[in-house]
Amino acid sequence: MKAAVWHAQRDMRLEDIPEPEVGPEDVKIKVAYAGICHTDVFEYLYGPQTVFNPPLALGHEFSGVVEEVGEAVTGLAKGDPVTGLPYYPCWECTFCQQELWNLCPSAQAHGMHIHGAFAEYVPLHYRGVYKLPEGVSLEEAATIEPMSVVYRAVKRSGLEQGESVHIVGAGPVGLLLTNVAKYKGAGRIVVSEPLESRREKALEMGATHVLNPDVEDPITRTHEICDGVGAHVSFDCVGMAATLDTAVYSTRRNGRIGILGFGFYESPTYPLMLLAAFASEYTYFATLGYNVEMKEVVDLVGKGELHPGDVISNIIPFDQIVEFFDHFEENRRKYLKILLKIG
Ligand SMILES: [Zn+2]
Ligand SMILES: [Zn+2]
Repeated sequence: MKAAVWHAQRDMRLEDIPEPEVGPEDVKIKVAYAGICHTDVFEYLYGPQTVFNPPLALGHEFSGVVEEVGEAVTGLAKGDPVTGLPYYPCWECTFCQQELWNLCPSAQAHGMHIHGAFAEYVPLHYRGVYKLPEGVSLEEAATIEPMSVVYRAVKRSGLEQGESVHIVGAGPVGLLLTNVAKYKGAGRIVVSEPLESRREKALEMGATHVLNPDVEDPITRTHEICDGVGAHVSFDCVGMAATLDTAVYSTRRNGRIGILGFGFYESPTYPLMLLAAFASEYTYFATLGYNVEMKEVVDLVGKGELHPGDVISNIIPFDQIVEFFDHFEENRRKYLKILLKIG
């Protein structure tokens, strides 16, 4: 089958690899669309960071149809439209027993340990396969994975109805978070983002206030908007020292701060975070992937409560993937979520 295989930094090749074998509990999925995550781009430019067994096909956001099921699999049949967990947890360890599959020490992740979804077929464990509700398109289904990440982040924040939220950065993650915050009944949803097109999108997806950090101080403005004391919950969706600072210092005392962006922090910020934790009794939380949240998001998208497909900006043919990655940096401001059309 055709797959986009990561070999080394800036060396991804479209090539033929063997189709996945179908074990008794596996489901072989014919990939329809695969989303490009910032981690895929990061890996392309700076890897190997999360690719443990190169050469390997990247890709962990996808939709598709069931092609074949293992002999122990029930409830799924060829032709079912699906999405699913892009990793194999062991299902048995102390974390898996608590449904914290994302923390399973022996999980095998697609695009990290085994071939991912930048390929014509991808294998999943049947317990991690979710049938799409009627009316959910395969395009939108490919965005359920990143939506599950932010859905879990909001859950971990303990956001309550009427509370104020400050979202720093309106890339796909920040925009999806805006959508979930609205769904959860947040009072004021403040989004800081330098790009005008993204601020407009944030308003469409549920922001009550948008700020341009290039022309106004997002910390002062967020305090003003949120009762003069700052947001109940802030999320850094970028992952730079400056954006983390913005998230921290725009949060009210006793507030919660979610760390979603990663990889670009400069070390001097960390001691400041600790200081702020003492001074204001902040709670910091990080969040990694999702577990049962993916099934919850599938259902909510089916009911029309969440709209992750609204962040799709481009759909490109699979055979243009290498060219796309080559030119990503110069074009990045034009994109939100990009899907590859694979099958
Ligand atoms: Zn991702
Ligand atoms: Zn486990």
